[in-house]
Amino acid sequence: MLIVMRHGATEQEIQRVVAVIREMGYQARPMPGAQRTAVGLVGNDGRVDASRLEGLEGVQEVIHVSKPYKQVSREWKAENTVVRLPGGITFGGPDVVAIAGPCSVESEAQILEAARAVREAGAVVLRGGAFKPRSSPYSFQGLGRPGLKLLAKAKEETGLLVCTEAMDPEAVAWVAEVADIIQIGARNMQNYSLLRAAGRAGKPILLKRGISATITELLLSAEYILAEGNPDVILCERGVRGFDTMTRNLFDVSAIPVVQKLSHLPIIADPSHGTGLREKVIPMARAAVAAGADGIMVEVHPNPEQARSDGAQSLYPEQFVQLMKEIRVIAEVIGRRVAEPAPVGA
Ligand code: PEP
Ligand code: MN
Repeated sequence: MLIVMRHGATEQEIQRVVAVIREMGYQARPMPGAQRTAVGLVGNDGRVDASRLEGLEGVQEVIHVSKPYKQVSREWKAENTVVRLPGGITFGGPDVVAIAGPCSVESEAQILEAARAVREAGAVVLRGGAFKPRSSPYSFQGLGRPGLKLLAKAKEETGLLVCTEAMDPEAVAWVAEVADIIQIGARNMQNYSLLRAAGRAGKPILLKRGISATITELLLSAEYILAEGNPDVILCERGVRGFDTMTRNLFDVSAIPVVQKLSHLPIIADPSHGTGLREKVIPMARAAVAAGADGIMVEVHPNPEQARSDGAQSLYPEQFVQLMKEIRVIAEVIGRRVAEPAPVGA
C-alpha cells in the first residue's frame, strides 16, 4: 500500500504516518519525490485496512498495490529505476549496455584476452563466472576465489566493470569485493536465502529468470532483494525451457515489454543461454534491442572450441564486433544509444 502525502505535507505529518504504520505492525518506507512524498507500507500479505491512515493530516490518498510484488511494481513507482554504476554507466535510462565475456573464467590469459577483445568491440561490462552452476557435478565448476582475483586483474587492466555470479549467501561478500554487478543465475532465482543476502550486498544485482519461472515469479524474486533494502536490481531474460530441442531454451523476447509494463526495474536479455547456439545469438540480440531491452549479455570466448563451458554458444570475438555494430544502428532507430567504454586512462 502507498500513502501519498499532499504537496507541502510537513515532516511531522509524514512521521505521524510512519508511526501509525509501525503501530499497525508493518514497515514504513518514506519515499520523497519531486512533487510530493509517498510512504510505502510493506510487510502485508493481503489487503490492509487503510481507514486509520486515510484520516491522518497531510494524507492525500491511499493506493492499494494490486500486484503480489509491491516495491517492484509500476503501481508503487511509476518512473523507471535507473541503476547507476561507476563511470557513469546506467541501466534503465536511454543507454543500451553490452555485457560480454566468457561463460567461465578459465585462466589469466583467457580472461585478459577476452576482456581486451570485448572492450575493443564496445562492451562496458565484462562477464565471466568464477563460481559456475553446472547441471553435472563432474563438469567444470569454475576456479572459485582465484577466478575472482583474475577478474579483478582484468578489470584493472581494461577499466571494464565486472559482472560475476554468486551461488550461495556465503560467497556474496567475496563476489561483492570484485563485482560491480552480482549475478544470480537462473537456477538460483528462487534461492530465497541467496536473494536476501543479495538484498544486503550493497551492490547492484543481475537477477536471471529461472529455467521455468513465470514473469510473476521473477518479479517476486526481485521483491525479496528490494524488501531487504537494495533497489538496484537488473532483471534478465535468458530463455525458459520449451518443448522443442532445436534451441537450448525458448528465448522469450516478449518478456521484455511485458516486464517493462509491470515493473520499473531495468531488464536486459541474454541470447547466449536463450538459444544455446552461436549462430542464433546475433539475430536474437538484435531482436532484444529492438524490443526495448536495456542491455544485452553475450558470451564471447577468444577460442570457443577450447572453452570449458558453453563453447557452442560463445561468439568469436569478430562476431561480437559485428553484433556491436548492428545494435548501434538498431538502438538509434528506437531513440536510444549503445553505451561506449570510457577512453583508456579516463
Ligand atoms: C551464465 O550466465 O553463465 C549462466 C550460468 O547463466 P544462467 O544462470 O542463465 O543459466
Ligand atoms: Mn554460460
